[in-house]
Amino acid sequence: MALLQTQNLIAHYGDFQALFGVDVHLEEGETVAIIGANGAGKTTLMRSISGVLNNQAEAITFDTDKIGSTHAADVLKKGIAMVPEGRKLFPSLSVEENLLIGAYGRKGNGPWTLETIYRMFPVLQERRNNPGTALSGGQQQMVAIGRALMSNPRVLLCDEISLGLAPVIIKDIYAALPKIKETGTSIIVVEQDIGQALKVADRVYCMMEGRITLEGSPSDLSRDAIHNAYFGAS
Ligand code: ATP
Repeated sequence: MALLQTQNLIAHYGDFQALFGVDVHLEEGETVAIIGANGAGKTTLMRSISGVLNNQAEAITFDTDKIGSTHAADVLKKGIAMVPEGRKLFPSLSVEENLLIGAYGRKGNGPWTLETIYRMFPVLQERRNNPGTALSGGQQQMVAIGRALMSNPRVLLCDEISLGLAPVIIKDIYAALPKIKETGTSIIVVEQDIGQALKVADRVYCMMEGRITLEGSPSDLSRDAIHNAYFGAS
């Protein structure tokens, strides 16, 4: 059985329907990428899984629990942490305080502590007393990833962690994902940057207009198939 799965997941914003029966799954230890253009529904899917948006209870299963209508704080305690789009650091808090806030949902011991996060992102240790907002975009993204890891999650959801960053910084940020995977954490990355997503993912889903349009391993998917699933067949 998959560690996490959605079944016929539907989401609305008022009268507007954003997801139309989405089925995705994540195996233990796997890294899955969800790609798709602006407005495809990727963030809505992440917000549904993390409990920020509540859906039908039965539509999301984590381990053996139905979590579709579970609130975000409880989803975090169960072991799913999100790196939100736009990083959303606490501006008045230092780097270290931002990281420590992430330990709130923590259950028992796990690989992630201030020490192991500073080892992965040494620049954060140098800047640990600076306010989060005094950092560059890439450093802020490192804090957002570190903050999510501080709960020692079984699943890490990363929503567009490359957004607005220079290519060389994106490379640095993406270099962290295999290290996170090595600790046994399962990962979902949501991306518009297809190249980055394909490099780290074991499996890829493409979304368009609230539906999954393609699924496969990066080596099995042709450029044309991805193009059609991403933009629609021309
Ligand atoms: P992006 O790359 O822009 O984050 P996305 O694939 O993550 O795109 P979503 O943000 O999930 O897409 O948006 C899916 C659809 O839902 C879009 O049509 C969007 O306009 C709509 N939508 C998203 N958030 C809201 C909201 N709070 N209220 C109303 N509609 C929304």
